[in-house]
Amino acid sequence: MKRSFLIKPVLDEMYPVIDYGKGVYLFDMDGKKYLDAASGAVTANIGHGVPEIMDAMNEQAKKVSFVYRSQFTSEAAERLAEKIAELTPGDLNWSFFVNSGSEATETAMKMAIQYWQEKGIHTKTKVLSRWVSYHGITLGALSMSGHTGRRARFVPLLEDFPVINPPYCYRCPYKLEAPSCQYACARELETAINRIGADKIAAFIAEPIIGAAGGAIAPPDEYFKVIKQICEANNILFIADEVMTGSFRTGKMLACEHWDITPDIVTLGKGMGAGYAPIAAAVASEKVMKPILAGTKQVMSGHTLSANPQSCAIALAVLEFIEKNKIMSQVESKGNYLRDQLEKLKEQFLFIGDIRGKGLMLGIEFVADSSGKKPYPRQALITQKMVSLAKEKGLIVYPAGSGIDGVNGDSIMIAPPLTITEKEIDELIVLLNETFTSFANDSGVIAGG
Ligand code: PMP
Repeated sequence: MKRSFLIKPVLDEMYPVIDYGKGVYLFDMDGKKYLDAASGAVTANIGHGVPEIMDAMNEQAKKVSFVYRSQFTSEAAERLAEKIAELTPGDLNWSFFVNSGSEATETAMKMAIQYWQEKGIHTKTKVLSRWVSYHGITLGALSMSGHTGRRARFVPLLEDFPVINPPYCYRCPYKLEAPSCQYACARELETAINRIGADKIAAFIAEPIIGAAGGAIAPPDEYFKVIKQICEANNILFIADEVMTGSFRTGKMLACEHWDITPDIVTLGKGMGAGYAPIAAAVASEKVMKPILAGTKQVMSGHTLSANPQSCAIALAVLEFIEKNKIMSQVESKGNYLRDQLEKLKEQFLFIGDIRGKGLMLGIEFVADSSGKKPYPRQALITQKMVSLAKEKGLIVYPAGSGIDGVNGDSIMIAPPLTITEKEIDELIVLLNETFTSFANDSGVIAGG
């Protein structure tokens, strides 16, 4: 087959050609079966080939697929916005629909800057973020991303947005432990604000659980409370990037809800369309929208396909499917079950340094020496090797960490569709065990604790 589609071969491997997907499984054109333990890129939250979603697609397509957002609204867009307002905490009542997570974080950044402008403050234009973070590939989103690998080539084009240390407890930058650390990494935000000046800062953005750049790094319990307090005390908006963690990935609509935090702006993506449609959103609170609605009356952003009825109808059907089948209430127990099995693998394989995350967004960090947490040399490309070995066995896992970023260790994420059954989790673990056994045998790395 002639391959003209621009894809990046990892370790010179040719990508298999997909045939179809069903539930947690994918089948390529050679008939090989894969268990999708990554939901693609933590996206296929309800699995593949769900008939209800195909019906919703069809229904909407028969009516109308596209109208331009400044000419028409649609029932699908209005109902989706209502559903998101109903499912999210506080008064996060206003959804601005876009097509990708990167567009959502760019929009959130612009909303934050516009919010201050509408209040007559024009100096607040910087957005603070953290190292070991990923908020998207477009230049505004990349400016907010502490992802060295993805930034490197474009640094001259990026905004000078300051970053603070992440709550990466496994490799604490201060060599402290929570809670006695008193959340030094969160308090760094205050130091940064004092250094730069609150009058220059529009917002602080963070992923509730760090995904692509770190491999499911969850913060200590009080971390976001401290962050929110600092933001409020300094008149800085808090943007939660829930593109990966939102849409029930951790059992709640927003991961922020685990810590009783309501952000000023939230971004959703990935699981929102669950891979059935390109759709994402920047969701703003009443506080943010009030001056915008009283002033310019519109968010100064938007794309041709923003809020197209087709994508909106699909995203609505995804949320209705999750609600109807009470999928959210099963995430915690499935996540705990999966996590217990991963902990057992950690006892078996000494190159597993850390198991972390929440719900069905779990991470595994690899180390060359588990007692000293020594990372593998970057050029060893451990993350990519694990991903490739797993794929050979018929298991899809998500690469994160230093295989693509020099800041932190090598890690992978295990984030299967939320619909996965216990039996399928057992199968996932067998395939992961086989992957780690092959890695141990191939590299002569120690197995057996
Ligand atoms: N924010 C987060 C937290 C993400 O994980 C991602 C994608 N990995 C993005 C933003 C960007 O989303 P997209 O790839 O859809 O542009």
